[in-house]
Amino acid sequence: MKVRAKPKIAFFDFAGCEGCQLTVLDALQTHPELLDVVEIVQFREAMSEKGDNYQVAFVEGSYTRREDRERLQSIREHAQIVIALGACAHLGGVNAMRNWGPQEEIRHYVYREFARVHDSDHARPISSAIPVDGFIPGCPIDRDEFVAAVRQLLQGRIPEIPDYPVCVECRLQEIPCLFMQGKLCLGPITRAGCGSICPAHGQSCLGCRGQVTQANFQGLQAAAGEYRLDRALVEERLKFFQSDRLLNSEGAGDGR
Ligand code: SF4
Ligand code: SF4
Ligand code: SF4
Repeated sequence: MKVRAKPKIAFFDFAGCEGCQLTVLDALQTHPELLDVVEIVQFREAMSEKGDNYQVAFVEGSYTRREDRERLQSIREHAQIVIALGACAHLGGVNAMRNWGPQEEIRHYVYREFARVHDSDHARPISSAIPVDGFIPGCPIDRDEFVAAVRQLLQGRIPEIPDYPVCVECRLQEIPCLFMQGKLCLGPITRAGCGSICPAHGQSCLGCRGQVTQANFQGLQAAAGEYRLDRALVEERLKFFQSDRLLNSEGAGDGR
């Protein structure tokens, strides 16, 4: 009987806290059967081997340095499928908040006398450097969504991510709406799939999963006005995860 080779996958990290890679490690512990069907050839957080023969590349972290582009291009050349893993890679993420200020000053503020040895610049999603085939959103990613994504990839499909707002998950779970408590929430424009975890714990959604394709900003602003919330807060909140999109506004409402 001919034994079919397992698809080879690899994980790469750029600027990020590595929380998404930790979630992958967690997923591999709770779903060890994944290791029966895929072969991991590179995963710095978990192993020292570095194989360059892989079909699927999962990339965590945002693109912040000039040399990152070359590395991303090399990953793109090796992989048949590139998946952005988590908000940093998908959106630029929290790192992109620094894009609002002068980079030199920010580097100095953070690194002081060591600023000159750090060459990081604006934080961008990896899609601004290379074509990306799919993404697993969130900060961090959702473990079960990662497992489902691997299963879909094994079936030859690009992972399907919900394209309806977090509010739908709130309604299904009968979670009281935070607007009624005078709290601004980005759930109406944010991609569902996290099970409304923040509103379920009384916290506003900050939009870590990116926006739905048909994001209704006017509706969100109108709701803020209706509940006497400062409309300027909407943009402030968007800066947490959407700074790159706000600063490159042609991407507005494109489902990032
Ligand atoms: S998306 Fe969040 S958890 Fe993942 S690497 Fe970035 S900051 Fe960390
Ligand atoms: S709490 Fe947020 S996510 Fe939930 S229904 Fe209200 S606006 Fe939507
Ligand atoms: S509720 Fe919003 S911020 Fe919280 S995990 Fe879900 S998408 Fe992210």
